[in-house]
Amino acid sequence: MNAVMPQSTSAPEQGSSAAVFAVEKVNLLGMTRPELEQFFEQLGEKKFRAGQVMKWIHQFGVTDFAQMTNISGKLREKLEKVAEIRAPEVVHRNYSKDGTRKWVFRVGDGAGSLVETVLIPANDKTGARKTLCISSQVGCALDCSFCSTGKQGFQRDLTPAEIIGQLWVANQSYMEDVPVAERSRTVTNVVMMGMGEPLLNFEPVVASMALMLDDFAYGMSKRRVTLSTSGVVPMIDKLAETIDVALAISLHAPNNELRDELVPINKKYPLEQLIPAAQRYLAKDGNESSRKHITIEYVMLDGVNDKAEHAQQLLKLLKDLPSKINLIPFNPFPHAPYGRSSRNRIMAFQKTLSDAGFVCTIRQTRGDDIDAACGQLVGQVADRTRRAERWQKKVASQQGEILRTQGD
Ligand code: SAH
Ligand code: SF4
Repeated sequence: MNAVMPQSTSAPEQGSSAAVFAVEKVNLLGMTRPELEQFFEQLGEKKFRAGQVMKWIHQFGVTDFAQMTNISGKLREKLEKVAEIRAPEVVHRNYSKDGTRKWVFRVGDGAGSLVETVLIPANDKTGARKTLCISSQVGCALDCSFCSTGKQGFQRDLTPAEIIGQLWVANQSYMEDVPVAERSRTVTNVVMMGMGEPLLNFEPVVASMALMLDDFAYGMSKRRVTLSTSGVVPMIDKLAETIDVALAISLHAPNNELRDELVPINKKYPLEQLIPAAQRYLAKDGNESSRKHITIEYVMLDGVNDKAEHAQQLLKLLKDLPSKINLIPFNPFPHAPYGRSSRNRIMAFQKTLSDAGFVCTIRQTRGDDIDAACGQLVGQVADRTRRAERWQKKVASQQGEILRTQGD
């Protein structure tokens, strides 16, 4: 990357004697420490400036170079000319009564795409744990049958600045009225469980997670940063080689036949490849606390994957994989082809798994009043896959069918 030179983005103005260039400043928000060190070296500055600037950006939420008081006036002027700190634009924010917060960001290129980010506080008295659910792509190309993001199709990958910018904005929302010197980071946990498949946007997601772990930025413990994947097997191995974070797998079905239907990427990477990949992930640096177990996500779909036989199959499938199982009551979205399993069904499923020795939790649905629950992050996707169009056609034809039968 040429980190220093501003890029010229427009041709010289016609008819003007002096060539006038609009220059695009370098956005420092999404740069990792090595990238920022390189940036300062190219400016003829010392590498340690990178750490100083990172602290201003990520720990104190400062975007104005003039406020960076431990940096010389001359360097601040230089930075103002070539660089900027720009978070994605918040077009809407919604703070729920239960403490959940949701932001809608406009991303990019004038195509009008929106992505969502949700902050969920712990449901205990302290409320000290604050988990942020971050999006990695505009839409998703994978089309799981129970996921509203999938139904919207795919537009593009988010950049590192757009990914880490979601965390920056969430922290900032608690800092706004606090004097700079007293500011502290509030978000304690991050889950890459918003819109998109993070392993299909590998480099920007890894760069953002590196910032989450970096002491000069967010300094989060690696156990508190979780990447969730639907099972892109080769990229699970690549992740293990690249960065040490907790891994969640969206399993949702205990056999290939059902999983092919619910999570179509299973046709490419079936369970007999996925489970060993998860085992390899744990085996790599096995003593690391972030890698003692895999979180298994399992959405509870009424009458589809929630029967006693499914629980038994799951026990067999996971018997050699240290895992904690998180049952997610299905969150409906308009025209979803599934219903949520009953409370009794979910409890019975949980009992089978816990009786066999698994830690098995049921995810609490939060933020219902602001449509901030799992799988309800819909954003707005300038779809490039025409999937959204096909989905709407299907819904319209089904509605036509219903109206016709009612008319009979
Ligand atoms: N693409 C990644 C991460 C984003 S999805 C993945 O699939 O893991 C985050 C989680 O929300 C996944 O476990 C996903 O299966 C779940 N989810 C999607 N739609 C849902 C819905 N309608 N109700 C409940 N959970 C849902
Ligand atoms: Fe994509 Fe995950 Fe939704 Fe599947 S569940 S469509 S992988 S976001």
